[in-house]
Amino acid sequence: MTLKNPYDDLAIKTIIEPFQIRSVQPIQYAKAHERPQALHDAGYNVFLLRSDQVLIDLLTDSGTGALSAQQWAGMIASDEAYAGASSFYRFEATVRDITGFKHIIPTHQGRAAEHILFSNIARKGAVIPNNAHFDTTRANIEYLGAEARDLVIAEGRQPQLIHPFKGNIDLDRLRETIETVGAANVPLVMLTVTNNSGGGQPVSMANIRAASAIAHEYGIPFFLDACRFAENAWFIKLREEGYADKTPREIAREMFSYADGCTMSGKKDGMSNIGGFLALNDDALAQQCRNLLILTEGFPTYGGMAGYDLEALAIGLYEALDPDYLRYRIRSIEYIGEKLVAAGVPIMQPTGGHALYIDARAMLPHIPAHEYPAWALVNALYLAGGVRAVEIGSVMFGRQPDGSEKPAAMELVRLAFPRRTYTQSHFDYVAEVITALFARRERIKGYRIVWQAPVLRHFTARLAPLD
Ligand SMILES: *Cc1c(COP(=O)(O)O)cnc(C)c1O
Repeated sequence: MTLKNPYDDLAIKTIIEPFQIRSVQPIQYAKAHERPQALHDAGYNVFLLRSDQVLIDLLTDSGTGALSAQQWAGMIASDEAYAGASSFYRFEATVRDITGFKHIIPTHQGRAAEHILFSNIARKGAVIPNNAHFDTTRANIEYLGAEARDLVIAEGRQPQLIHPFKGNIDLDRLRETIETVGAANVPLVMLTVTNNSGGGQPVSMANIRAASAIAHEYGIPFFLDACRFAENAWFIKLREEGYADKTPREIAREMFSYADGCTMSGKKDGMSNIGGFLALNDDALAQQCRNLLILTEGFPTYGGMAGYDLEALAIGLYEALDPDYLRYRIRSIEYIGEKLVAAGVPIMQPTGGHALYIDARAMLPHIPAHEYPAWALVNALYLAGGVRAVEIGSVMFGRQPDGSEKPAAMELVRLAFPRRTYTQSHFDYVAEVITALFARRERIKGYRIVWQAPVLRHFTARLAPLD
């Protein structure tokens, strides 16, 4: 018999970081008076700042999370054998347990898994549908001469519209695409969970099931880009009828059960600093993939990873599915979102699993697209608070192949949150910086580009403030 807690009725609601901190890393950063010079020297491009000039780094959630004591312990006890290392078998058993897939192929990152998969199935003229391809996925497909087609539902393209599963693929357009280009020209249907390019928005189980059924009806394999499978599972638990009492692990297992394979970056829900894998059921395709793996990554029992990376990933994949962790993870981003909404800051709603997006076009209507409002807001965030975010707007997407400029569809500022790295006071600080800037938003001025590379210019461009 369990004893009843006499204080159950107090209903304590605060969701805390479900870990204690046993090892700390002091933040080296540029003080407020040093930041104008630091930003000037970086060409007004936060990608060119040194990390020790940044106070809170929200550039990406990729590979930037904190490892657990369990992960460090596993890493110290790793097996670095070239072939047949026990660390590999631990990793393989974990991935098989979570995904149910037969063949587990380790790679150094998610993009290596994509490259190996697509090299074996994509060719010129092929079309690969997805809710929204992540940029490395798109680049790998286009590199092989195939087309990467995004078919997210219309709600997924409207920043302020609230919908529980804005990452869903448009099932009618998926069927129409297969009918129009012909099933023989669609080597694979993919779904990205959560939809990173669309704001970290989740995909429902019903949508995964239906997309899988459509692909299989035409004899086409169905794969998940599973980078944030655990965050997606948590959203299903919270928002989809019939899943409230299931564990994230059961939900993840069901998500994978509809797929024939997946690509994965261990730097996201693998809770690791590096790593990834390709997993699939098809014996012949797995053999071809392993052949290419040996050529470009390494022997099949380590792929692109050290034994200690395999250990970190094997342990991290389970940790990502821990309900206390996921509750805190998703809630912390929702928490900062609520603060911003209360202050009137226009953000993409609802908040996603790993990131929060500010709608800079709505916030800074006085800055036209050709003066890069989202870029201007990123620089203001740095100057005001030492916070590093990333522009997803007209600097990133505005340059056309012929060299002309066209405004991007949206002017967004993305704040991506590393896993288990920042505490609630860091979040409060970020919210304070944003709301303080919002109150004085008319002071923020636009930028012009001084120098740019011909492609992917946002990484290296140098800009100058107007006025
Ligand atoms: C990060 C990411 C990738 C690529 O993984 P890397 O480990 O960075 O190579 C692929 N798809 C999605 C959705 C991602 O977020």
